[in-house]
Amino acid sequence: MENLKSKELYEKAKNIMPGGVSSPVRAFKAVDAEPVFIEKAEGAFIFDVDGNKYIDFILSWGPLILGHSYPEVVQEVKKACEKGFSYGMSTEKEVLLAEKIKKAFPFVQKIRFVNSGTEATMSALRVARAYTKRNKVIKFEGCYHGHSDFFLVKAGSGGLTFGVPSSPGVPESVIKDTILLPYNNLEKVKETFEKYGAEIACVIVEPIAGNMGVVLPKENFLEGLREITKKYGSLLIFDEVITGFRVGFGGVSTQKNIIPDLITLGKVIGGGFPIGAYGGRKEVMELVSPDGPVYQAGTLSGNPIATTCGLKTLEILEREKPYPEMKNNLEEFTRNIKKLFHKKGIPVSIPKSTTFFSIFFSEKEPENLEEVQKTDKEIFKKIFKGFLKRGVLLPPSPFEALFISICHDKNLLSDVLEKMEDIINKEI
Ligand SMILES: *Cc1c(COP(=O)(O)O)cnc(C)c1O
Repeated sequence: MENLKSKELYEKAKNIMPGGVSSPVRAFKAVDAEPVFIEKAEGAFIFDVDGNKYIDFILSWGPLILGHSYPEVVQEVKKACEKGFSYGMSTEKEVLLAEKIKKAFPFVQKIRFVNSGTEATMSALRVARAYTKRNKVIKFEGCYHGHSDFFLVKAGSGGLTFGVPSSPGVPESVIKDTILLPYNNLEKVKETFEKYGAEIACVIVEPIAGNMGVVLPKENFLEGLREITKKYGSLLIFDEVITGFRVGFGGVSTQKNIIPDLITLGKVIGGGFPIGAYGGRKEVMELVSPDGPVYQAGTLSGNPIATTCGLKTLEILEREKPYPEMKNNLEEFTRNIKKLFHKKGIPVSIPKSTTFFSIFFSEKEPENLEEVQKTDKEIFKKIFKGFLKRGVLLPPSPFEALFISICHDKNLLSDVLEKMEDIINKEI
């Protein structure tokens, strides 16, 4: 595998950008490797600047459920570009996208677009605090809700990868109201509410955790959160930035028929362009300016290119109904991966939802961050490097989810499986 151009670019990048990257996990540090720089991508494939071709399981960390540059979407985005990039004014596309989201999440009565998942969760928290006139927020260890100050306490994603669960620069005064509890532990939530119930503005949760690797909610965990928050007059926020339109046409909330007060969205709803959204009950969302006093704004919010790309992506998902087939493909693929490792006597667990999954090297599926951290990370590194050489790009960290797109068909996945067998035989 030739990588001279990537190496050269990485050296230049390190001189001018912290770690040479715009987002930490891209530096490949967690897998003791050097990053590749990307030239282009198409369908399930991504190409680096040295001309290497990889089957892509990062997919921009989730948004690209249709694969890279789906022709129909490209056409629509090109047309939109010709009409101007941004107006800072309202457009029809925003309204259509909002309506499409409402069709998938019928309980969302009002929605506001922002530019990232980070902005969505940050703003949802502000609204929840304003609505309840309380300050405390419960979040779960290993869940990632973007990088705003309040949530940078034992957060997942890059924070977890780099062993910096909290961050310098976040004042204690800001996070003193953030209560951190283990994922899937309803007892602890109950105890906390018994003590601080009257002060808790909201509970925020990834209804399927995707930022410490994939950790599924135990039976009744989410239902329990709904019940307790209701009892104490706190709001429940489902952060569906990953799960929204990844588990199906809707989210975990709609599939499980649990109605949170607010949800946050991002990733798939922009189809690869920067976007985020928060929405929910009318009485809560009507606090948002200019209907209400809670200020939140954005120069590029709801911009025509992102909303065009997102809307087209959702229209195609609605029309093509790709989820059952993707789910089947992923089930078969992960079943076969398990077989390969078991044949070698290596314990492996593969938690998954419709279109994303994790490979943990542990006997039992982790239920929380502590159990995730006990899994064997050395095997993951070997697999990552083995795949990179063989033209498959995994997320460069054992704590990030792997994603598939509609372009990851049976043939492609069986090709990946053959490479996996070769790695296990030669390199593990
Ligand atoms: C990616 C992610 C975010 C942050 O979104 P950005 O667009 O990266 O700011 C928030 N919450 C969850 C669950 C995410 O997966």
